[in-house]
Amino acid sequence: MSETFHVGLGNNDTGLRKKADADFVSFWDEQAKNMSWFSTWEKTLDWTPPFAKWFVGGTINASYNALDVHQTSKSHKSAILWEGENGESRIVTYGEMFTQVKKFANVLKSLGVQRGDRVTIYLPMVPELPIAMLACARIGATHTVVFSGFSAASIKDRVLDSKSKIIVTADGGYRRGKIVRLKDIIDDAIDGLDFVEHVIVLERTKNKISMSSRDKLWTELMSESSDSCDAEKLPSDHPLYILYTSGTTGKPKGVLHGTGGYLTHLYSTFKWAFDIKDSDVFFCTADIGWVTGHSYVVYAPLLHGATQVMYEGAPDFPDVSRMWDILQKYKVTIFYTTPTALRMFMKFGDDVPNSFDLSSLRLLGTVGEPINPEVWKWYFKTVGKEKCPIVDTWWQTETGGMLISPLPGLETIPLKPGSGTLPIPGVSVGIVDENGDDLPANTKGYLVIKNPWPGMLLTLWGDDEKYKTVYWSKYENYYYSGDYARKDDDGYIWLLGRADDVLKVAGHRIGTAELESCMVSHPGVAESAACGIPDDIKGEVIVAFVVLKHGVSKDPAILEKEIYDKIRTGIGAIATPKQIYFVSKLPKTRSGKIMRRLLKAIASHEKIGDVSTLEDGAAVAEVQQVFDEIQKSIEADSR
Ligand code: ATP
Ligand code: MG
Repeated sequence: MSETFHVGLGNNDTGLRKKADADFVSFWDEQAKNMSWFSTWEKTLDWTPPFAKWFVGGTINASYNALDVHQTSKSHKSAILWEGENGESRIVTYGEMFTQVKKFANVLKSLGVQRGDRVTIYLPMVPELPIAMLACARIGATHTVVFSGFSAASIKDRVLDSKSKIIVTADGGYRRGKIVRLKDIIDDAIDGLDFVEHVIVLERTKNKISMSSRDKLWTELMSESSDSCDAEKLPSDHPLYILYTSGTTGKPKGVLHGTGGYLTHLYSTFKWAFDIKDSDVFFCTADIGWVTGHSYVVYAPLLHGATQVMYEGAPDFPDVSRMWDILQKYKVTIFYTTPTALRMFMKFGDDVPNSFDLSSLRLLGTVGEPINPEVWKWYFKTVGKEKCPIVDTWWQTETGGMLISPLPGLETIPLKPGSGTLPIPGVSVGIVDENGDDLPANTKGYLVIKNPWPGMLLTLWGDDEKYKTVYWSKYENYYYSGDYARKDDDGYIWLLGRADDVLKVAGHRIGTAELESCMVSHPGVAESAACGIPDDIKGEVIVAFVVLKHGVSKDPAILEKEIYDKIRTGIGAIATPKQIYFVSKLPKTRSGKIMRRLLKAIASHEKIGDVSTLEDGAAVAEVQQVFDEIQKSIEADSR
């Protein structure tokens, strides 16, 4: 029996789920009316599997819904409370944002950007990043944001794939007190790409840069630009953006999102999961370079006219108290972060958050990876002081918005640490076997989505065939998520990690998430990763990597035995790793996810070569260092 926590916000709208269950199409039709449309749609859903078009015939604009609609009542309201890494702060109101977006839209037009053109944006976490995105949306250009930690080679791939003729960047960005020279990286990335006509450069760090005739300064262009620019009336399925997935499972995919369906999905989920109110101060720690930043930093909060904190830098700079300091300073009411960040905070003990006033918080959220129950409980107790519901939101770049999550803004249900609880209304989630047949409760299987949903990707950019193969070939009529899950007796969904990371030991299939959570429940363990490696006798055996909490100095042999005991009692002897390696860090993608496939390669003595050639190679030095350390401990062990 898993523990349950009864903490909600008192909302109980059962009618909404009933409507959704009766007919998901008319349910979403109803929700879409929360958006402002220039003209209404003729057909709610055109489903020609596997391509879905929502609100066909309707015309809409994302920037209009994010800004124009708020100008009468909220032009003086803060949209962004920006905190620079070095302690600077800046407030951008809805009125100012509106003016800046219209001006930048005119800048793009003056450089020849037209409806349907792609614009690559490579900016740090500054207000000009959402401004540039909304300016694209305003004129119907498709933005493609590349996380500002990516290397020149990664940018080049993405610019080549999207054929962007304009790039928006900055001279530099701050990261852990140092300047990352973004413009130099862009110069390298687009060397030889003649289709790139202009690079617009925002001066953020004022480091010296070289400017060619192709390059234009943001401030100069803006000073000559008019602030009058009507939003284009775009078809509902107009491509709003391309976002390349983080590539945990291989080469990044250019996920293409539309407009009307996507906005409807975001508006609804933001309200249901976060119970957003006019007085809230929302803070999502995701970088806008990832989908969480696109959906729940840029679009969803702005659609609601909400106030949010946007932080420029690293979560542990200048030290590990930075996040708590920001929560206290801005009196944040809703905090949305990742399990990886929480494990990092937890590693440094309770005294750090306990020395800040976090009493403004009323709701907490996580996204990105399965959250270990132990970490959930820490978040609940130490951060939320046992009064804030936690929304564990499951979704993907491809899904556009949350699909599984507690929804305290809609209903009050018991929470179970580690479970994403129920699918959102209007979305049908299945847990199926290899043949696509539904599995009974408490049986692990593949997580699929049975009906189209409004935030669903349109396709993979320029590659309908790959879209079909990746998501729609394993099962004929279901969207294949690639994740492994089970339902419990209450219908709650438990995410068990990626299906391609699953551990197969002596005929048993064990989710990485289950095993890792079990190891993290040891009081000395901060983080862990498990992977399977080939074994002559058993086919596959498990090896585990463990990072200890700050200040833990027990004999590794004793720790190892204690962790084995936890696994034996928590899961069963079958899941006992053959070997545990104690390391100081785990290799992670730039979005903070553990790279289990690389751990697997290294533990299997495969040559990984130069990690900089890997798609997620931006954190190269750090990852290489972790690999070297792991390699050493493996070698030491096999002697
Ligand atoms: P790629 O598809 O290129 O390998 P990625 O899957 O890491 O990249 P994202 O779309 O950012 O890129 O991540 C989505 C995945 O993150 C999900 O499929 C799931 O494995 C994991 N995930 C996200 N949120 C949760 C959650 N709340 N609980 C469990 N897992 C989650
Ligand atoms: Mg994925």
